[in-house]
Amino acid sequence: MSFSFKKDLEKIKKQGQYRVLNQYNHIDDVLLEKNHNKLISFSSNDYLGLSKHPTLIKAAIEATTKYGVGLASSRLVTGNNQLYEELERKISKLKNSEKSLVFGSGYLANIGTISCLVDKNDLVIADKYVHSCILDGVKISGAQLLRFKHNDTESCLNIIEKHRHKFNKCLIITETVFSMDGDVAPIDKLLKIANNNNALLMTDDAHGLGVLTPKKAHINMGTLSKAAGCYGGYVAADKAIIDYLINKARSLIFSTALPPSILASAIAAIDIITHNQDGRPVEKARYFTQKMGLPEAQSSIVPIIIGDNEKTLRISNLLEKKGFLVTAIRPPTVPKNTARLRLTFCANHKIADIDNLIYHIKSII
Ligand SMILES: *Cc1c(COP(=O)(O)O)cnc(C)c1O
Repeated sequence: MSFSFKKDLEKIKKQGQYRVLNQYNHIDDVLLEKNHNKLISFSSNDYLGLSKHPTLIKAAIEATTKYGVGLASSRLVTGNNQLYEELERKISKLKNSEKSLVFGSGYLANIGTISCLVDKNDLVIADKYVHSCILDGVKISGAQLLRFKHNDTESCLNIIEKHRHKFNKCLIITETVFSMDGDVAPIDKLLKIANNNNALLMTDDAHGLGVLTPKKAHINMGTLSKAAGCYGGYVAADKAIIDYLINKARSLIFSTALPPSILASAIAAIDIITHNQDGRPVEKARYFTQKMGLPEAQSSIVPIIIGDNEKTLRISNLLEKKGFLVTAIRPPTVPKNTARLRLTFCANHKIADIDNLIYHIKSII
């Protein structure tokens, strides 16, 4: 058997799942340029517009001047710049946790944390819709993975009652805000199930930070790459867990520290998020769902499920011709036959632009 890249790519094309890299120029947090066309983006995770915030930019420039562009080694060697301490202190305070730990990205935080907390003698019970990087973390760990029905605590309880006794440790994982569906997890109930069954609950707050304030779990993961507008991931938890991660999480130990510019901007972003609870992304999402006659938005993310891959892509292309970027999300990112338009709403979206988008979606679908 030899490699057959071309043939395999043809297969992907036939399934309507072929992906290409487009080039974008971000003019601001909601306006971008693609092939010289200006598009209003409903596909950005820069929910608060922080990626272009003057305070964050200034912090990045000053930190670069002071510390250079890179730290050139792992945090465990000489990469642990003093900015990390300030950033982690602020994240801990915001997340109301004893301690926190910043990783190179959200992806690295998830794979590093999960693969160090559990091993082949352990059980992970994850919501059916969790992000791929959570599944990658479980794969690396070698733990047994069982999935419960999306946001269904009964299903989670059934699995844990049936299987918990066969395993050593048990970790339940969910997202606070689901990245492709925009609904929120029943953290309170899952926490109760975890506590009653000698398990820990881990949540992924990638799309919650800066937009909603989720209930605290045992292990609270999040990213600095979305609403915080920067880059990096974090885990907030009790001191013992964080100290354990520092000693065992391979994606922390064997990867270079983040650039000082990013650390400094992230400090400024966490300050802004801590001091100004900005309800606008959810308000704008609710304005949209109400006018569209969709179920009320629970977060800044709204899916419009179309089903067919080609049709979803076609609608997305038509909207682009009208000046809107609304990404078509297809399997394997989402389950089969649930291809969808995924819209994200940002603080700085104008109501007139949302009205215009609604007009075009209604006339196409
Ligand atoms: C984006 C995302 C991640 C990965 O975070 P990065 O900082 O982009 O690596 C993890 N989990 C969820 C749910 C995400 O949406």
